[in-house]
Amino acid sequence: MDRLLTLAEADALTASLRPLGTEAVDLAAALSRTLAAPLVADRPFPPYHRAMMDGIAFSAGSLPPTGPVTLAGLHAAGVPPPAPLAPGHAWEIMTGAIVPDDCDTVVPYEDLADGRPAGDFEKGQFIHEAGSDATTGAVLVDGSSRIGPVEIAVAASVGVGQIEVFRQARIAILSTGDEAVPPDVIPRAWEIRRSNGPMLEAMLRRRGNSVTFHDHAPDDPEICGRLLDAALAECNVLLICGGISKGKKDFIRGLLEERLGKPAFHGVEQRPGKPLAFWQGPPVVFALPGNPVSVLATFTRHVLPALARLEGREFIPAKVSMNEALKCLPKFSWLLTVASGPDGTLRALPPSNSGDFISVAGACGIIEVPPASSQTEFKFFPFPGFP
Ligand code: AMP
Ligand code: MG
Repeated sequence: MDRLLTLAEADALTASLRPLGTEAVDLAAALSRTLAAPLVADRPFPPYHRAMMDGIAFSAGSLPPTGPVTLAGLHAAGVPPPAPLAPGHAWEIMTGAIVPDDCDTVVPYEDLADGRPAGDFEKGQFIHEAGSDATTGAVLVDGSSRIGPVEIAVAASVGVGQIEVFRQARIAILSTGDEAVPPDVIPRAWEIRRSNGPMLEAMLRRRGNSVTFHDHAPDDPEICGRLLDAALAECNVLLICGGISKGKKDFIRGLLEERLGKPAFHGVEQRPGKPLAFWQGPPVVFALPGNPVSVLATFTRHVLPALARLEGREFIPAKVSMNEALKCLPKFSWLLTVASGPDGTLRALPPSNSGDFISVAGACGIIEVPPASSQTEFKFFPFPGFP
Protein backbone atom coordinates (compact mmCIF):
# COMPACT_ATOMS: atom_id res chain seq x y z
CA MET A 1 0.00 0.00 0.00
CA ASP A 2 1.11 3.56 -0.65
CA ARG A 3 0.39 6.75 1.30
CA LEU A 4 -3.27 6.58 2.27
CA LEU A 5 -5.42 9.05 0.35
CA THR A 6 -8.39 10.90 1.74
CA LEU A 7 -11.69 10.20 0.03
CA ALA A 8 -11.50 13.61 -1.64
CA GLU A 9 -8.05 12.80 -3.04
CA ALA A 10 -9.26 9.43 -4.31
CA ASP A 11 -12.31 11.09 -5.88
CA ALA A 12 -10.09 13.61 -7.66
CA LEU A 13 -8.24 10.73 -9.33
CA THR A 14 -11.32 8.74 -10.39
CA ALA A 15 -12.80 12.04 -11.64
CA SER A 16 -10.28 11.92 -14.50
CA LEU A 17 -12.21 9.05 -16.11
CA ARG A 18 -13.87 10.05 -19.37
CA PRO A 19 -16.99 8.61 -21.05
CA LEU A 20 -16.41 5.52 -23.16
CA GLY A 21 -18.01 7.01 -26.30
CA THR A 22 -21.46 6.81 -27.84
CA GLU A 23 -23.49 4.46 -30.02
CA ALA A 24 -26.99 4.25 -31.48
CA VAL A 25 -29.29 1.57 -30.07
CA ASP A 26 -32.89 0.57 -30.73
CA LEU A 27 -35.30 2.27 -28.40
CA ALA A 28 -36.32 -1.13 -27.03
CA ALA A 29 -32.73 -1.71 -25.88
CA ALA A 30 -32.22 1.76 -24.41
CA LEU A 31 -33.57 1.19 -20.90
CA SER A 32 -31.01 2.11 -18.18
CA ARG A 33 -28.65 3.65 -20.72
CA THR A 34 -27.56 7.32 -20.70
CA LEU A 35 -28.74 9.80 -23.33
CA ALA A 36 -25.85 11.15 -25.41
CA ALA A 37 -28.01 13.98 -26.78
CA PRO A 38 -31.16 15.71 -25.51
CA LEU A 39 -34.60 14.55 -26.58
CA VAL A 40 -36.16 17.43 -28.51
CA ALA A 41 -39.82 18.04 -29.36
CA ASP A 42 -40.36 17.45 -33.10
CA ARG A 43 -43.83 19.09 -32.84
CA PRO A 44 -45.82 20.87 -30.15
CA PHE A 45 -46.96 18.84 -27.14
CA PRO A 46 -49.80 18.12 -27.29
CA PRO A 47 -49.76 18.59 -31.06
CA TYR A 48 -53.42 19.67 -31.21
CA HIS A 49 -56.10 20.90 -28.82
CA ARG A 50 -56.88 17.56 -27.19
CA ALA A 51 -60.18 16.60 -25.58
CA MET A 52 -59.44 15.46 -22.03
CA MET A 53 -62.78 13.78 -21.31
CA ASP A 54 -65.52 11.80 -23.03
CA GLY A 55 -68.54 14.11 -23.30
CA ILE A 56 -69.69 16.96 -25.50
CA ALA A 57 -67.76 19.80 -27.16
CA PHE A 58 -69.28 23.10 -28.20
CA SER A 59 -68.74 26.83 -28.36
CA ALA A 60 -69.66 28.25 -24.96
CA GLY A 61 -71.11 31.42 -26.48
CA SER A 62 -73.53 29.59 -28.78
CA LEU A 63 -75.17 27.29 -26.24
CA PRO A 64 -78.97 27.74 -26.01
CA PRO A 65 -79.91 29.13 -22.54
CA THR A 66 -82.31 26.24 -21.82
CA GLY A 67 -83.27 22.83 -23.18
CA PRO A 68 -81.20 19.99 -24.54
CA VAL A 69 -78.22 20.69 -26.80
CA THR A 70 -78.59 19.26 -30.30
CA LEU A 71 -75.83 16.75 -31.01
CA ALA A 72 -74.31 16.92 -34.51
CA GLY A 73 -72.77 13.43 -34.25
CA LEU A 74 -69.80 11.58 -32.80
CA HIS A 75 -66.27 12.98 -33.06
CA ALA A 76 -63.77 10.37 -31.89
CA ALA A 77 -59.98 10.22 -31.43
CA GLY A 78 -57.89 9.48 -34.50
CA VAL A 79 -60.09 11.23 -37.06
CA PRO A 80 -59.59 14.64 -38.71
CA PRO A 81 -61.49 17.71 -37.50
CA PRO A 82 -65.19 17.55 -38.54
CA ALA A 83 -67.20 20.09 -40.54
CA PRO A 84 -68.23 23.33 -38.77
CA LEU A 85 -71.02 23.08 -36.22
CA ALA A 86 -74.39 24.77 -36.72
CA PRO A 87 -75.08 27.36 -33.95
CA GLY A 88 -76.32 25.82 -30.70
CA HIS A 89 -75.03 22.35 -31.67
CA ALA A 90 -72.39 20.21 -30.00
CA TRP A 91 -70.30 17.19 -30.91
CA GLU A 92 -70.18 14.11 -28.80
CA ILE A 93 -66.42 14.03 -28.34
CA MET A 94 -64.10 11.27 -27.11
CA THR A 95 -60.91 11.65 -25.04
CA GLY A 96 -57.89 12.18 -27.29
CA ALA A 97 -59.89 13.65 -30.20
CA ILE A 98 -58.80 16.94 -31.76
CA VAL A 99 -61.13 19.67 -30.47
CA PRO A 100 -62.58 21.40 -33.55
CA ASP A 101 -61.63 25.08 -34.02
CA ASP A 102 -65.23 26.18 -33.49
CA CYS A 103 -65.47 24.48 -30.07
CA ASP A 104 -63.92 25.96 -26.93
CA THR A 105 -65.36 23.85 -24.12
CA VAL A 106 -65.75 20.18 -23.22
CA VAL A 107 -68.28 19.00 -20.64
CA PRO A 108 -67.92 15.36 -19.57
CA TYR A 109 -70.86 12.97 -19.70
CA GLU A 110 -70.97 12.82 -15.93
CA ASP A 111 -71.66 16.59 -15.77
CA LEU A 112 -74.65 16.44 -18.17
CA ALA A 113 -78.33 16.26 -17.19
CA ASP A 114 -81.31 16.27 -19.53
CA GLY A 115 -79.05 16.58 -22.56
CA ARG A 116 -77.19 19.73 -21.45
CA PRO A 117 -74.54 20.81 -18.89
CA ALA A 118 -76.04 20.26 -15.45
CA GLY A 119 -74.32 23.20 -13.81
CA ASP A 120 -71.73 25.89 -14.37
CA PHE A 121 -68.75 25.19 -16.54
CA GLU A 122 -65.69 27.19 -17.49
CA LYS A 123 -65.02 28.15 -21.06
CA GLY A 124 -61.93 26.18 -22.15
CA GLN A 125 -62.33 23.41 -19.58
CA PHE A 126 -61.07 19.89 -20.33
CA ILE A 127 -59.13 21.04 -23.36
CA HIS A 128 -55.40 20.25 -23.22
CA GLU A 129 -54.16 23.16 -25.28
CA ALA A 130 -51.82 22.56 -28.24
CA GLY A 131 -48.21 23.33 -27.28
CA SER A 132 -49.05 23.90 -23.62
CA ASP A 133 -46.64 21.16 -22.45
CA ALA A 134 -43.81 21.96 -24.89
CA THR A 135 -43.24 23.87 -28.09
CA THR A 136 -41.47 22.50 -31.18
CA GLY A 137 -37.71 22.39 -30.59
CA ALA A 138 -38.00 22.44 -26.80
CA VAL A 139 -35.62 20.16 -24.89
CA LEU A 140 -37.85 17.53 -23.29
CA VAL A 141 -35.12 15.48 -21.60
CA ASP A 142 -31.55 16.73 -21.10
CA GLY A 143 -28.56 14.86 -22.51
CA SER A 144 -26.72 12.73 -19.93
CA SER A 145 -30.03 11.68 -18.35
CA ARG A 146 -30.53 8.07 -17.37
CA ILE A 147 -33.17 6.44 -19.58
CA GLY A 148 -36.06 5.06 -17.58
CA PRO A 149 -39.56 4.12 -18.68
CA VAL A 150 -40.72 7.76 -18.88
CA GLU A 151 -37.75 8.77 -21.04
CA ILE A 152 -38.57 5.80 -23.32
CA ALA A 153 -42.12 7.20 -23.63
CA VAL A 154 -40.79 10.68 -24.48
CA ALA A 155 -38.37 9.26 -27.08
CA ALA A 156 -41.16 7.21 -28.65
CA SER A 157 -43.41 10.25 -28.86
CA VAL A 158 -40.81 12.35 -30.66
CA GLY A 159 -40.30 9.57 -33.18
CA VAL A 160 -36.88 8.36 -32.08
CA GLY A 161 -36.52 4.71 -33.14
CA GLN A 162 -32.75 4.63 -32.74
CA ILE A 163 -31.37 6.55 -29.84
CA GLU A 164 -27.85 7.89 -29.32
CA VAL A 165 -26.56 6.71 -25.95
CA PHE A 166 -23.23 6.52 -24.15
CA ARG A 167 -21.51 3.16 -24.37
CA GLN A 168 -21.82 0.99 -21.33
CA ALA A 169 -18.91 -0.48 -19.50
CA ARG A 170 -18.14 -4.12 -20.35
CA ILE A 171 -17.19 -5.45 -16.99
CA ALA A 172 -15.04 -8.37 -15.89
CA ILE A 173 -15.09 -9.76 -12.36
CA LEU A 174 -12.20 -11.74 -10.93
CA SER A 175 -12.51 -12.92 -7.36
CA THR A 176 -9.54 -14.51 -5.61
CA GLY A 177 -8.64 -16.74 -2.74
CA ASP A 178 -7.67 -20.41 -2.16
CA GLU A 179 -10.22 -20.60 0.63
CA ALA A 180 -13.23 -19.59 -1.49
CA VAL A 181 -15.03 -22.48 -3.23
CA PRO A 182 -18.00 -22.27 -5.62
CA PRO A 183 -21.45 -21.98 -4.01
CA ASP A 184 -22.45 -25.49 -5.14
CA VAL A 185 -19.44 -27.16 -3.48
CA ILE A 186 -19.49 -28.39 0.11
CA PRO A 187 -16.65 -26.47 1.75
CA ARG A 188 -14.12 -28.18 3.94
CA ALA A 189 -13.69 -26.90 7.49
CA TRP A 190 -11.10 -24.29 6.42
CA GLU A 191 -12.97 -23.08 3.36
CA ILE A 192 -15.86 -20.70 2.65
CA ARG A 193 -18.21 -20.37 -0.28
CA ARG A 194 -17.56 -17.49 -2.69
CA SER A 195 -20.06 -14.73 -2.25
CA ASN A 196 -18.33 -11.59 -3.53
CA GLY A 197 -18.52 -12.42 -7.23
CA PRO A 198 -22.25 -13.21 -7.18
CA MET A 199 -22.92 -10.02 -5.18
CA LEU A 200 -20.99 -7.84 -7.62
CA GLU A 201 -22.61 -9.49 -10.61
CA ALA A 202 -26.06 -8.91 -9.08
CA MET A 203 -25.24 -5.23 -8.46
CA LEU A 204 -24.07 -4.81 -12.03
CA ARG A 205 -26.99 -6.62 -13.61
CA ARG A 206 -29.34 -4.46 -11.61
CA ARG A 207 -27.85 -1.33 -13.14
CA GLY A 208 -27.98 -2.82 -16.62
CA ASN A 209 -24.31 -3.68 -17.22
CA SER A 210 -23.19 -6.76 -19.05
CA VAL A 211 -20.64 -8.88 -17.24
CA THR A 212 -18.36 -10.17 -19.97
CA PHE A 213 -16.09 -12.30 -17.80
CA HIS A 214 -16.50 -13.76 -14.33
CA ASP A 215 -13.99 -16.15 -12.85
CA HIS A 216 -12.14 -16.94 -9.65
CA ALA A 217 -8.38 -17.14 -9.24
CA PRO A 218 -6.50 -19.17 -6.65
CA ASP A 219 -3.71 -17.48 -4.70
CA ASP A 220 -1.16 -18.63 -7.27
CA PRO A 221 0.64 -15.85 -9.17
CA GLU A 222 0.93 -17.81 -12.40
CA ILE A 223 -2.70 -18.93 -12.65
CA CYS A 224 -3.86 -15.57 -11.33
CA GLY A 225 -1.77 -13.77 -13.98
CA ARG A 226 -3.27 -15.89 -16.75
CA LEU A 227 -6.78 -15.19 -15.54
CA LEU A 228 -5.98 -11.47 -15.24
CA ASP A 229 -4.83 -11.43 -18.88
CA ALA A 230 -8.02 -13.17 -19.96
CA ALA A 231 -10.16 -10.76 -17.93
CA LEU A 232 -8.32 -7.65 -19.18
CA ALA A 233 -8.84 -8.75 -22.78
CA GLU A 234 -12.59 -9.02 -22.31
CA CYS A 235 -13.50 -5.76 -20.64
CA ASN A 236 -13.05 -2.04 -20.30
CA VAL A 237 -13.58 -2.22 -16.52
CA LEU A 238 -12.11 -4.96 -14.35
CA LEU A 239 -13.26 -5.53 -10.78
CA ILE A 240 -11.05 -7.72 -8.63
CA CYS A 241 -11.86 -8.73 -5.10
CA GLY A 242 -9.32 -9.99 -2.62
CA GLY A 243 -5.56 -10.37 -2.84
CA ILE A 244 -4.81 -6.61 -2.68
CA SER A 245 -3.79 -6.28 0.99
CA LYS A 246 -0.39 -6.86 2.61
CA GLY A 247 -0.59 -10.66 3.01
CA LYS A 248 2.13 -12.92 1.64
CA LYS A 249 -0.49 -14.43 -0.69
CA ASP A 250 -1.79 -11.09 -1.97
CA PHE A 251 -0.39 -11.04 -5.52
CA ILE A 252 -2.81 -8.70 -7.28
CA ARG A 253 -0.86 -5.44 -7.03
CA GLY A 254 2.36 -6.92 -8.38
CA LEU A 255 0.60 -8.73 -11.22
CA LEU A 256 -1.31 -5.62 -12.24
CA GLU A 257 1.81 -3.44 -12.03
CA GLU A 258 3.51 -5.77 -14.52
CA ARG A 259 0.61 -5.20 -16.90
CA LEU A 260 -0.63 -1.65 -16.25
CA GLY A 261 2.11 0.11 -14.28
CA LYS A 262 1.69 1.74 -10.90
CA PRO A 263 -1.83 2.26 -9.58
CA ALA A 264 -3.29 5.76 -9.44
CA PHE A 265 -3.86 4.98 -5.77
CA HIS A 266 -3.61 2.07 -3.38
CA GLY A 267 -4.98 2.78 0.07
CA VAL A 268 -7.73 5.14 1.19
CA GLU A 269 -8.52 6.51 4.66
CA GLN A 270 -11.82 4.66 4.88
CA ARG A 271 -13.35 1.82 6.86
CA PRO A 272 -14.07 -0.68 5.62
CA GLY A 273 -11.99 -0.89 2.47
CA LYS A 274 -8.63 0.70 3.29
CA PRO A 275 -6.60 -1.37 0.75
CA LEU A 276 -8.71 -0.29 -2.27
CA ALA A 277 -6.57 0.18 -5.39
CA PHE A 278 -7.36 1.93 -8.68
CA TRP A 279 -5.71 1.86 -12.09
CA GLN A 280 -6.97 4.36 -14.62
CA GLY A 281 -6.20 1.97 -17.47
CA PRO A 282 -7.45 1.26 -20.03
CA PRO A 283 -8.96 -0.99 -18.92
CA VAL A 284 -10.02 0.74 -15.72
CA VAL A 285 -9.25 -1.54 -12.76
CA PHE A 286 -10.59 -1.43 -9.23
CA ALA A 287 -9.04 -3.95 -6.86
CA LEU A 288 -11.39 -4.25 -3.90
CA PRO A 289 -10.33 -5.80 -0.62
CA GLY A 290 -11.90 -9.25 -0.23
CA ASN A 291 -13.93 -8.89 2.94
CA PRO A 292 -17.56 -8.94 1.80
CA VAL A 293 -18.60 -5.71 3.54
CA SER A 294 -15.48 -4.02 2.14
CA VAL A 295 -16.50 -5.16 -1.34
CA LEU A 296 -20.00 -3.82 -0.80
CA ALA A 297 -18.83 -0.47 0.58
CA THR A 298 -16.00 0.23 -1.86
CA PHE A 299 -18.05 -0.86 -4.88
CA THR A 300 -20.89 1.44 -3.83
CA ARG A 301 -18.74 4.41 -2.78
CA HIS A 302 -16.10 4.31 -5.56
CA VAL A 303 -17.03 1.98 -8.43
CA LEU A 304 -20.64 3.09 -8.96
CA PRO A 305 -19.75 6.80 -9.39
CA ALA A 306 -16.86 5.81 -11.69
CA LEU A 307 -19.19 3.67 -13.82
CA ALA A 308 -21.67 6.57 -14.03
CA ARG A 309 -18.86 8.83 -15.29
CA LEU A 310 -17.68 6.26 -17.87
CA GLU A 311 -21.29 6.03 -19.05
CA GLY A 312 -21.69 9.80 -19.45
CA ARG A 313 -23.32 10.78 -16.17
CA GLU A 314 -22.13 12.56 -13.07
CA PHE A 315 -23.18 10.87 -9.83
CA ILE A 316 -23.99 13.46 -7.20
CA PRO A 317 -24.76 11.88 -3.84
CA ALA A 318 -27.88 13.03 -2.04
CA LYS A 319 -27.46 14.45 1.47
CA VAL A 320 -29.39 12.57 4.13
CA SER A 321 -29.82 13.12 7.83
CA MET A 322 -30.02 10.31 10.33
CA ASN A 323 -32.33 10.14 13.33
CA GLU A 324 -29.62 8.59 15.46
CA ALA A 325 -26.32 9.92 16.75
CA LEU A 326 -23.39 8.35 14.89
CA LYS A 327 -19.95 8.08 16.38
CA CYS A 328 -17.38 9.03 13.79
CA LEU A 329 -13.94 7.49 13.49
CA PRO A 330 -10.98 9.66 14.55
CA LYS A 331 -9.06 9.60 11.26
CA PHE A 332 -10.91 7.46 8.73
CA SER A 333 -14.16 8.01 6.86
CA TRP A 334 -16.73 5.43 7.83
CA LEU A 335 -18.62 3.84 4.94
CA LEU A 336 -21.64 2.80 6.94
CA THR A 337 -24.25 0.42 5.56
CA VAL A 338 -27.81 1.71 6.02
CA ALA A 339 -31.28 0.29 5.54
CA SER A 340 -34.47 2.10 4.62
CA GLY A 341 -37.43 1.87 6.99
CA PRO A 342 -41.08 1.66 5.91
CA ASP A 343 -41.39 5.47 6.20
CA GLY A 344 -38.30 5.99 4.00
CA THR A 345 -35.97 7.06 6.81
CA LEU A 346 -32.54 5.49 6.92
CA ARG A 347 -31.16 3.62 9.89
CA ALA A 348 -27.61 2.44 10.45
CA LEU A 349 -27.01 -1.24 9.83
CA PRO A 350 -23.45 -1.66 11.03
CA PRO A 351 -21.71 -5.01 10.64
CA SER A 352 -19.77 -6.40 13.59
CA ASN A 353 -16.68 -6.41 11.34
CA SER A 354 -16.03 -6.23 7.60
CA GLY A 355 -16.37 -10.00 7.20
CA ASP A 356 -19.87 -9.93 8.68
CA PHE A 357 -22.10 -9.57 5.66
CA ILE A 358 -25.00 -11.45 7.26
CA SER A 359 -25.93 -8.48 9.44
CA VAL A 360 -26.00 -6.08 6.48
CA ALA A 361 -28.65 -8.09 4.62
CA GLY A 362 -31.46 -5.64 3.84
CA ALA A 363 -29.11 -2.67 3.36
CA CYS A 364 -30.01 -0.22 0.60
CA GLY A 365 -26.76 1.72 0.39
CA ILE A 366 -24.03 3.38 2.40
CA ILE A 367 -23.57 6.76 3.98
CA GLU A 368 -20.22 8.46 4.36
CA VAL A 369 -19.43 9.54 7.91
CA PRO A 370 -16.40 11.85 7.72
CA PRO A 371 -13.66 11.56 10.34
CA ALA A 372 -13.76 13.64 13.51
CA SER A 373 -16.78 15.73 12.69
CA SER A 374 -20.13 16.36 14.35
CA GLN A 375 -22.13 16.83 11.17
CA THR A 376 -25.63 15.44 10.99
CA GLU A 377 -26.00 15.31 7.19
CA PHE A 378 -24.21 12.61 5.24
CA LYS A 379 -23.61 11.76 1.60
CA PHE A 380 -25.78 8.82 0.58
CA PHE A 381 -24.66 6.26 -2.00
CA PRO A 382 -27.58 3.95 -2.88
CA PHE A 383 -27.22 0.44 -4.23
CA PRO A 384 -28.41 0.06 -7.84
CA GLY A 385 -32.18 -0.18 -8.00
CA PHE A 386 -32.75 1.92 -4.88
CA PRO A 387 -35.05 3.76 -4.47
P1 AMP B 1 -8.26 -10.86 1.16
O1 AMP B 1 -8.59 -9.45 0.78
O2 AMP B 1 -7.95 -11.71 -0.02
O3 AMP B 1 -7.20 -10.89 2.21
O4 AMP B 1 -9.56 -11.47 1.81
C1 AMP B 1 -10.11 -10.91 2.98
C2 AMP B 1 -11.22 -11.76 3.53
O5 AMP B 1 -12.28 -11.78 2.58
C3 AMP B 1 -10.85 -13.20 3.79
O6 AMP B 1 -11.40 -13.62 5.02
C4 AMP B 1 -11.45 -13.95 2.62
O7 AMP B 1 -11.77 -15.26 2.94
C5 AMP B 1 -12.69 -13.13 2.31
N1 AMP B 1 -13.02 -13.30 0.89
C6 AMP B 1 -12.18 -13.15 -0.13
N2 AMP B 1 -12.79 -13.43 -1.30
C7 AMP B 1 -14.06 -13.78 -1.00
C8 AMP B 1 -15.19 -14.17 -1.76
N3 AMP B 1 -15.15 -14.25 -3.09
N4 AMP B 1 -16.34 -14.40 -1.13
C9 AMP B 1 -16.40 -14.29 0.22
N5 AMP B 1 -15.37 -13.92 1.00
C10 AMP B 1 -14.21 -13.69 0.41
MG1 MG C 1 -7.22 -13.57 -0.22
